Amino acid sequence: MTASDAPKRMDRQGDAPDTARVAAALEGFLAEFGPRASIYLNACVRCGLCAEACHFYLETGEAKYVPIGKVKPFEDAYHRTTGAFAWLMRAVGMAPRLTAAELEAWEELIYDSCNLCGRCTEVCPMGIDIAELVAEARHGMYHAGFVPDRLAEITRNAESRHSPFGTPEDFRRTIHAIEGEFGVSLPMDKPKADLLLTLAPGDLEEHHRSVVGLARILDHLGVDWTLSSDAFEATNFGYLSGNRELQAELTVRLVDKAKEIGASTILLPECGHAWTAARWELSRWYDGPLEGLRIRHIVEYLAEAVESGKLRFRQVRETATFHDPCQQIRRGGMERAARVVLAALGFDLRELPDHGETAFCCGGGGGVLSNARAEPLRLRAFELKRRQVEETGAHRFVTSCGQCRLSFDRGRAATGWDKAVESLIEIAAENLVEDTRDAG
Ligand code: SF4
Ligand code: SF4
Repeated sequence: MTASDAPKRMDRQGDAPDTARVAAALEGFLAEFGPRASIYLNACVRCGLCAEACHFYLETGEAKYVPIGKVKPFEDAYHRTTGAFAWLMRAVGMAPRLTAAELEAWEELIYDSCNLCGRCTEVCPMGIDIAELVAEARHGMYHAGFVPDRLAEITRNAESRHSPFGTPEDFRRTIHAIEGEFGVSLPMDKPKADLLLTLAPGDLEEHHRSVVGLARILDHLGVDWTLSSDAFEATNFGYLSGNRELQAELTVRLVDKAKEIGASTILLPECGHAWTAARWELSRWYDGPLEGLRIRHIVEYLAEAVESGKLRFRQVRETATFHDPCQQIRRGGMERAARVVLAALGFDLRELPDHGETAFCCGGGGGVLSNARAEPLRLRAFELKRRQVEETGAHRFVTSCGQCRLSFDRGRAATGWDKAVESLIEIAAENLVEDTRDAG
C-alpha cells in the first residue's frame, strides 16, 4: 500500500454517533484485511503459548492480557466481513456485529497492554505476528476516535507542529541552546551533506548528551553530516497511534530531505520504533527509487565502524547488563551489533535472564509510555524487568533506546529504585580515542 492508497483521513470522532464510529473502525479494519492478515487470522490453534510470553499477562495473571485475545474484535470483524465463510458466519450468528461499547472496552487492550514488542510472535507455533495485528487494528481504532487521549494529543502535535517536540523554529532554538550548553558545533540545514542525522523528542527535551554524543562520533569518523530543521523527527507517532497518513508523511519527509541534500545515509538515533517505522515500514509508503540511500540505526552504524577498525574506545572494564530494545533487537536484528559495541568498550557483560531476541520489553514501548492512563499497568510490567536487572548483579545498566531510558527513569521514580540506566551511545562518545594504542 502507498500513502495515496491509505484510508481517507477522518477527524477524531469522539462526538460522533456510535454507528459512525463503528463504521469508521470497520473501514480501517477492512483496509488491513490483505493476504497476510488473512493467514494470521485463520491460523490460531488456541494453544495458549503466547500467554506466557507477554509480560502484561505474566505480571497480572489476567486472562484478558493473553496476546491473541487482544485482537479479538479485529478477528471477529474479519470473519464477519472478509473470511472465506463470512456469509455462513453471518447467517448462523457466529460473527456478531461490532458495537461501540465493545470497541471502547477494547481500546485499553490494544493501546495500554501491548508494546508491539513481538515477544509473543517469537513463541507462536503458527508464526502469527500478533504485534503486527495489533498495529493494524490500531489503524481502524484511530480513525474511529478510539485512542487514548494523551497519545491522540501527541499525534495531533506531530501533525500540526511538524513534530511532537515542536516546530522547526523550536528545533533550531533547542539545537543552538545545546551548542551553547556543551560548547559544540551542530551543523544544521546544510544544502548538501552525505548523512542526514535525525533525533527523537527525548533527545531534544532531556537527553542532550546523546545529541552531543552523536555529533562527536560523526565528527570523529570525519563524516559530512547535517541536521535538518524541516526533517529532524525520527519518531513516528503515526505508526504508534494508528494514523497511517501521518506515518506516511513523516517517513516520506525524511527520505525526500535526504535525497534533496544528496545524502547517502539517514541515521536514526537511539530509538526503537523509529527504526521499525523508517526501515521496515518504509516500503509501504515510499514507492519511488531510493537511489542508493541507506537507512541506518546508530547501533549498527557504530558496530560497523568498530569492526572496520575506524572506532576505538578506552576500556571501561566494569560489569554491565544490557536492556535489548525490542524494535532494535528482536524486531530489528541488532542483537549482535549492540554486543559488538559493548565488547569494544571493554564491558564485562552480565546478560539478563531473558536477553537478545527473547528479552522482555521495558513496558513503555508501542506508545504505552506516552499513554498516561496506562501508567499503573506499565509499572507492573516494569517490575519484571527490574527483578531481572537486579538478578545479574551488574554494576552498570545500559541500553540503546531513549524511550526505554525514559520508561526506566519513570519506573525508578515511581518505585524508588536506585539503578540508573545509561545510554550506549553516550558511553561510546565519552570513551572515543584517537589512537588505537590508547585503547587499553
Ligand atoms: S507484542 Fe508484546 S506486549 Fe503485545 S501482546 Fe505480544 S508480548 Fe504482549
Ligand atoms: S501461540 Fe499462536 S497459535 Fe497459540 S494461542 Fe497464541 S496466537 Fe494462537
